[in-house]
Amino acid sequence: MLPIHLFNTLSRKEEILKTIEPDHLKIYVCGPTVYDRPHLGNARSVVIYDLFFRLFKNIFPRVTYVRNITDVDDKINAAAKERGISIQELTKKNTDFFYADIDALNVLRPTFEPRATDHIPEMIAMIQTLIAKNHAYENRGHVLFDVESYKNYGALSNRHLDEMIAGSRVEIATYKKNPLDFVLWKPADEQDDPSSMFESPWGKGRPGWHIECSAMSKKYLGADFDIHGGGADLQFPHHENEIAQSCCANDHSHFARFWIHNGFLTVDGEKMSKSLKNFITVRDLLNQGISGIVIRYLLLSTHYRKPFDFNQKALDDAQKSIEKFYSVLPLFKKDGSVAQSTTQKLGLKNKIIEHLSEDLNISKAIAFLHEIAKEIKTKNDENLKIEFAETLDFLGLLDVNFSAQKSSITKIDEDSINSQIILRLQAKQEKNFQKADEIRKNLLAQGIILEDVIGGKTVWKFSA
Ligand SMILES: [Zn+2]
Repeated sequence: MLPIHLFNTLSRKEEILKTIEPDHLKIYVCGPTVYDRPHLGNARSVVIYDLFFRLFKNIFPRVTYVRNITDVDDKINAAAKERGISIQELTKKNTDFFYADIDALNVLRPTFEPRATDHIPEMIAMIQTLIAKNHAYENRGHVLFDVESYKNYGALSNRHLDEMIAGSRVEIATYKKNPLDFVLWKPADEQDDPSSMFESPWGKGRPGWHIECSAMSKKYLGADFDIHGGGADLQFPHHENEIAQSCCANDHSHFARFWIHNGFLTVDGEKMSKSLKNFITVRDLLNQGISGIVIRYLLLSTHYRKPFDFNQKALDDAQKSIEKFYSVLPLFKKDGSVAQSTTQKLGLKNKIIEHLSEDLNISKAIAFLHEIAKEIKTKNDENLKIEFAETLDFLGLLDVNFSAQKSSITKIDEDSINSQIILRLQAKQEKNFQKADEIRKNLLAQGIILEDVIGGKTVWKFSA
């Protein structure tokens, strides 16, 4: 099995990935909180973990990828109130938007996509365990995690508890023993939408955000699993809190072995925010007629751990690269498939997999794609084109409906070719050789070669 080198945030160094079960990789990634349409920062995280998923699926016989949907949260309550709609209506609409937008970016569905509201009993059970083990306490309808009860608190983000308490700007709520203690369960507000309230041993309320991921990852992957991913902004406090809860609730658990974090996204060098009016959603770009494939390529083109700056030049460059790649694709059949390569494979896809196994070295992978595109232009080798298409497909960058102006991608309609062949045979029978020749030439211009074989039949193939 090809070794995968990954930068582990926990050890702060690159390590070779070793899974708990040799043939089965288990990964959990924090998913969207569905209070709004996905913006470019959300989309960057989604496509990066999609590329990891595609890589892992090519290496491990079995991959279980869990990405949750947070559909109960303070932000959701606030957004529903602001818009004057029910929480269910808001979360349903935004979940649909999420899928529509990421589908346009050619993102594969994870193995499991648990929703927080379907897992309240699991969260309550975990909170009860934490209380029983003296890692959590109840106070005025709130249940809080006692950070001082967990000696490794701060290990992931490399912070020390004492320093954090000293520099803490967290609002000191009177129900907390320590300002860094975080909410596991919070009481419902009288005016809250009933669909955001759940019965619990501590009264009606809703879970804290952090406990959602601890409970859902345990249910689908077990107490210990291989990789946990998310945006760099989640490292503290969200991921630190997930570790504290899971390691304290589950005996002898180390929770995730590897932690991977993707970098921030800026727009023209500035942090994206609604107040700066530089807030861009995936839908904004799609509505401008920019292809989802171009957006995907753009979001993947900077190394996942580095910050990525969205700007017009980067977008133009992505558009040009995709047009260049699509100008050297083979001809496609009507169903979107390509003819199979008949000669021995050159291993383009494997070369890309090798680059990606080096902590997802996308720069090397992209440079290689450009090199091959150039080679195809010079050699016009059909087998190379077919492997190139397979490689783009593996990266999620192949969309036969991509409609860039300069794209030369052509869909071949087999029915139409066959009817042209019949017309040509008829013309020949009528001794109209000029017409027969015209049909042959027209097809040749589309890259189709006709061959007259024994028995008066004609077969066709793609020109090399
Ligand atoms: Zn999470």
